[in-house]
Amino acid sequence: MRPKKLSANTATMFMEKEDLEPKFLKLWKTGELKKRVERLEDLLESCSICPKDCGNNRLKDEIAACYSGRLPIASSYTPHFGEEPCLSGTGGAGNIFFGNCNLRCVYCQNYQISQTWKQQKKNETTHERLAEMMLELQLKGCHNIGFVSPTHFVPQMARGILIAAENGLKLPIVYNTNAYDSVKVLRLLDGIVDVYLPDLKYAENDAGFTYSKVRGYTTFAHLAIKEMFRQTGDKLIFDENGLLQKGLLIRLLVLPNDLAGIEENLRWIRNELSPKVAISLMAQYYATNKAATDARYILLSRRISEREWFNAVSLLEDLEMEEGFMQEYESASHYYRPDFMDTEKPFKDIRDFIYKPEKIKMKVFG
Ligand code: SF4
Repeated sequence: MRPKKLSANTATMFMEKEDLEPKFLKLWKTGELKKRVERLEDLLESCSICPKDCGNNRLKDEIAACYSGRLPIASSYTPHFGEEPCLSGTGGAGNIFFGNCNLRCVYCQNYQISQTWKQQKKNETTHERLAEMMLELQLKGCHNIGFVSPTHFVPQMARGILIAAENGLKLPIVYNTNAYDSVKVLRLLDGIVDVYLPDLKYAENDAGFTYSKVRGYTTFAHLAIKEMFRQTGDKLIFDENGLLQKGLLIRLLVLPNDLAGIEENLRWIRNELSPKVAISLMAQYYATNKAATDARYILLSRRISEREWFNAVSLLEDLEMEEGFMQEYESASHYYRPDFMDTEKPFKDIRDFIYKPEKIKMKVFG
């Protein structure tokens, strides 16, 4: 597909400086950020941070479905060059990977940190250290702070942002989530998160139960993404360098055998939100974790075929979804194979691939 720039009606390439200021700074200046942090922390006493609604007292380190207690678990933090180009830029996305997860995806590419709760205990850290990580990423020249799998640690994330704000953080906040989020919690993030980057993993609750071991995935993800859309609308706001500052970008990972239900997901986005919502269509799936070894998940045991990928791409055109990004089929699954055992550099630097045929490209389509 021919790369094009985002169309001018939704992509605002330059805004007044005030509009580009990260949202949390406004709340911090008025004292509202502190109040939000406290309200979020109150939810830990009988945990209802995500739709699992476990009711355990995480302030006393009682653990439940996500094996996470009072303190944040930051399993890795690094400038990341494999995100959409408007997030990676030249300095990298400043990603902080939380340990553990409220889902159990049988094909999780980050399973080394998301499904090994006993080992992750060693990555438990303080809110102050979490804030330091953000400031370090800022010093390294990252363009944003991207929280990866933040759902089960939202109060800890917000506390970290508050401490980082007091110490000079000035980067936009990216919330990179599986979308199994609570609307109540997302409302408290209104004015804290600049860019919502949710997956929409499945079009059917049954698929969510079979492959991510969670009830009502699609129902809850729809409610959560509607709330994100209420906060951001369909407009993407970029700075003068084309770096995304605010907005909603929905990731659709194409799974083998159409298990994700890409057409239904696109129709839902178009009809329930807007045809102008930005989509990131992803080809990077490869069989890993249980999908690579357990015969029950044989439908997930291969990467997607070229035909499956081009069917998904043509749906974008058929449904006139005009905004967003797509990966390049040939290379995507080669690049995105993190190894979190390498704590210094879990991702291959995309720049390592520049002169190689397996170079990944995210393209803008419109
Ligand atoms: S965040 Fe964890 S403990 Fe809280 S409701 Fe969700 S899964 Fe349960």
